[in-house]
Amino acid sequence: MSRPNHDLTPITAWSITPEWQEHPLEALLGSELDPKYIARSQARGLAVHRSDSLQRMVLRWAKSSRFRNAQAVVEHEPQRILSRNVFLYELKTSTEVRSEPHAKRIPLPARYVPHAEAPLDVWDVEVPESARFAQVKPTPIRIPGSDQVVVCEDCDGQGELLCAECTGRGTVERMVKVRAADGSVTTQPQERACTPCQGSGMIACRRCNARGELLEEQLFLWSRITQTVHAEDDPTAPHPGLLNQQAQVVFRDAVRLDDPRWKHIPAIVDLITQVTRAHAHDGVVLDAELTIRATPLTDITYLVGGRSRSIAVIGYTNVVAADRSFYDWRSIAIVALVVLAVIITTAIVIVWR
Ligand SMILES: [Zn+2]
Ligand SMILES: [Zn+2]
Repeated sequence: MSRPNHDLTPITAWSITPEWQEHPLEALLGSELDPKYIARSQARGLAVHRSDSLQRMVLRWAKSSRFRNAQAVVEHEPQRILSRNVFLYELKTSTEVRSEPHAKRIPLPARYVPHAEAPLDVWDVEVPESARFAQVKPTPIRIPGSDQVVVCEDCDGQGELLCAECTGRGTVERMVKVRAADGSVTTQPQERACTPCQGSGMIACRRCNARGELLEEQLFLWSRITQTVHAEDDPTAPHPGLLNQQAQVVFRDAVRLDDPRWKHIPAIVDLITQVTRAHAHDGVVLDAELTIRATPLTDITYLVGGRSRSIAVIGYTNVVAADRSFYDWRSIAIVALVVLAVIITTAIVIVWR
């Protein structure tokens, strides 16, 4: 049974030496990372590692609420104290996508002039200007030099088609009722000029406007996609909300995705994979902006009942966050029961009235 908070055994100073762990990014980017942040985070590390400052911080946290198990904090000596910077990454990219060309056939324009130049490659075609990181919906773009005159496949180059109504005869047979001299009515066939073809047996081809030829052009779909993706070094790390809240920008710049330095940071490799995956074959990243945010973190690891437990001290404001084992579940259960009892009593009183 845990003792009440005011009856804590006196603290004996922790004998463990805190460690500082440098992140590979710090050496990799060096002065490109906000130097003020780096200096401040190192100073913070020194300050919290000094004498019993961390121990006091953690104990103050434990004692400040009846729901925290101060006894568990006092009783155990940490196994390891490790301070480091936690980095959070955001990559914003603009990807230009150009589809495979596809043919489109249109009636030959009245004033069509054939040309001699060879068709341009899809990626050599000029496209409209657009602002940096602007989204562009898939838009068809003509490939200059790709047009050629082809025979109309509907009329086989004739410009006209056999009239479907009269199958080319120019006349149609209709049954008409005829009254004979004796007054009897008979039905007789009668040939009449066909209306759709006006008796010619042929009708103009609509596909080619009766030219017998079509203009075939190659087009591709042009679009620009803006994406923002996030990653962190260890997605399973505890207290993600707090880390995110405490993090501040230490790097924001236009970057090249093929910069060999990124290979050393798996989280950045993951970001690059995320943004390039969908259009690996038909897209090119035009612009990329990398934002890195950071917050200092001190992890205090305890071994409780053979299990690793931890208390984290996060950010410059030294927010303390602990895992569940440092909460006093008996007190929490009592309060929960009291609250439940109050709710039930209130409900009964309301019904009674
Ligand atoms: Zn035609
Ligand atoms: Zn006809």
